[in-house]
Amino acid sequence: MATIELNYNNIRQNAINLKEQAQDIIAVVKNNAYNLDLRECVKLYSEVGINYFATTKEEECKVIRETLGKEANIFLLNPTYDFALAREYNIEINIASLEYLKENIEKLKDLTLQLEFAGSMRRAGAKNLEEVLEIIAFCKENDLKLKGFWSHFSFADEFDGFYEKEKELVLNVLDEALKNYDFEVVHLQNSASFLRDGVFEKTTHQRLGIILYGAMPYDVNVNLVALENLVIKNPITVYGEIINIVKLNKGECIGYSNSYIADVDKKVGIVNIGYGDGILRDRLKGKTCIINGKNRNIYSTMMSHLVVEIGEEEQIGDRVYVYDDKQQLHDYTKYFGPNSVQLAALNYDSLKVKKIY
Ligand SMILES: *Cc1c(COP(=O)(O)O)cnc(C)c1O
Repeated sequence: MATIELNYNNIRQNAINLKEQAQDIIAVVKNNAYNLDLRECVKLYSEVGINYFATTKEEECKVIRETLGKEANIFLLNPTYDFALAREYNIEINIASLEYLKENIEKLKDLTLQLEFAGSMRRAGAKNLEEVLEIIAFCKENDLKLKGFWSHFSFADEFDGFYEKEKELVLNVLDEALKNYDFEVVHLQNSASFLRDGVFEKTTHQRLGIILYGAMPYDVNVNLVALENLVIKNPITVYGEIINIVKLNKGECIGYSNSYIADVDKKVGIVNIGYGDGILRDRLKGKTCIINGKNRNIYSTMMSHLVVEIGEEEQIGDRVYVYDDKQQLHDYTKYFGPNSVQLAALNYDSLKVKKIY
């Protein structure tokens, strides 16, 4: 069985390093903490002094409360209609719209609320400055517990210029909102925005996901990172092993639909890992892996096997690394998009998990 090592030491160290550079951190732990284990991650973030958590699911809010107890601040990013759960577990609620607020006012009276400016994300929240101000006024009139203002940049991970425009809009709306209400927490930035710009003056928290786990949001070789002194350590190591060595004569084929044809007589390694283990094909196909310290070509990619280049020294049982400190998630961002895509895809039912503390 191929193996994944989850390095919670590194994840902890990343949180410590980021805490020194951010204002205060809201740890985004959606989708089982980016598939790195919700309970483990919230425990260790809490141990290093992060006490604010955000996720998209009611169920996960409950798990966080049960894991950390009374002290943690828990913010549900998605609009919810499960007001009883929010009350029981003291979960902060996102205001879906002015209409949502009006329709549910009785149930929302004793709950803690946050106001989202939808910006160009437009998943939820106030659509424009007018609605932001109306929601603030409505909360004041009705004595609602409005705690936070937030927004989410939809272009922070792209370098095409839209980010600068949406930033201007959001900061402008924030300025106006602050003239009308004294928010206890203000948070706009995800990992990419924080890394590009450092912290914004008028915010209190950064809402960090991917960087907290241990991957840059973009390909580090392409773009400069704003925070030069930041050290981020790799959270996952994934490897299979050579389970067979096959001799191919020149012109002989191997793999699905003869996907590789030997260019000369050679030996190739058959490895017990594939896209069925949740390793993205874009990570594997036509790329390299590391065997005994050397970069080796991946010739063919199958559901539970790879065919790889080997040298004379390679033997059955040798480890074949697809992710480690030298081949990190962000080295492949340019091929498969956000690194969370790879984390989310990992198949723990077909990988042996080793946790490192
Ligand atoms: C996922 C998410 C984040 C974190 O994004 P990263 O790019 O992983 O830092 C922040 N805010 C919201 C609303 C999110 O959904």
